[in-house]
Amino acid sequence: MKDIKSLTLSQLKEEMTALGEKPFRAGQIYKWLHVKLVSSFDEMTDLSAALREKLSSEYEITDLKKLEVQISKDDGTRKYLFELSDGNTVESVLMRYHHGNSVCISSQVGCRMGCKFCASTIGGCIRSLEPSEMLDQIYKITNDINERVSNVVVMGMGEPMDNFDNLIRFITLVTDENGLNISQRNITVSTCGLVPEIRKLADLHLSITLAISLHAGTDEKRKALMPIANKYSLSELTDACSYYFKETGRRLTFEYALIAGVNDKPKDADEIAALARKVSAHVNLIPVNPVTETGFKPTSGRETNAFKQALEQRGVNSTVRREMGRDIDGACGQLRKRKLDEK
Ligand code: SF4
Repeated sequence: MKDIKSLTLSQLKEEMTALGEKPFRAGQIYKWLHVKLVSSFDEMTDLSAALREKLSSEYEITDLKKLEVQISKDDGTRKYLFELSDGNTVESVLMRYHHGNSVCISSQVGCRMGCKFCASTIGGCIRSLEPSEMLDQIYKITNDINERVSNVVVMGMGEPMDNFDNLIRFITLVTDENGLNISQRNITVSTCGLVPEIRKLADLHLSITLAISLHAGTDEKRKALMPIANKYSLSELTDACSYYFKETGRRLTFEYALIAGVNDKPKDADEIAALARKVSAHVNLIPVNPVTETGFKPTSGRETNAFKQALEQRGVNSTVRREMGRDIDGACGQLRKRKLDEK
């Protein structure tokens, strides 16, 4: 069965023509799927019963089952565990900001990148998500809270650039004015640093924000935390970042998880500042989430502020990311891992 929710409107029009239907039917179906967010053909009441039956025999509408929601008492952050149609599970997080609702989605079941501080990679990568399955996380949360989602962050489980084509299709669908119509500027994609894909993305000239998980300022230190650093050096990575900035005019973000005693010393601030200046990046400082399996602990608030000041003295803007939902299984991959362990 074909996955109808992963089709763009023009692909859907071609499909309808091939089925002997009028192309305008595609617009009706697209609206049911991407605006009214239905999960069955039976709900598409402006289509004839015969067409609905024909569609059911040709296509499937992907859907997610909500297995668990943890709601933070501190800030209303909601962490969802969803089951995909094949029984695999993914996590998504809703964060409520004064400027709107932001959803952080997963792009793969697990991850094969092996970053040492991350729970998502512990069982490896089981499979990549389809564009529809990335959309479903946003659609399910939209229906759950009955409010619009205005920002999307592809920073949950998985390496989005390791699922490049589906990621791009997802961005096309979620920003389509006939669908949810989320502005490209309100989309952030995070990567651990897949250099060829960063260049490929730059060539598409999108207006999304690219966030690079940096976490260390030298190749040696980065290799100890992130295996991808064995494949691409910091100099290759920052060259690709400069290329991205040149091609898109979009400022990049460096994500920097502060780990107590590992990467939070003044010398680290020196190294990060030099890299950020090279590519005009903004630095997001994130006190690392404690993950039992890694033993890493977050840098204290005082030292975090000192690190931020050190960057600013070196001419680099930075933000300390507000810790959302610290009282729930906040770090990506933790809720899923706990559920798998329970099984
Ligand atoms: S931090 Fe991101 S890229 Fe690294 S293992 Fe975790 S999910 Fe994968």
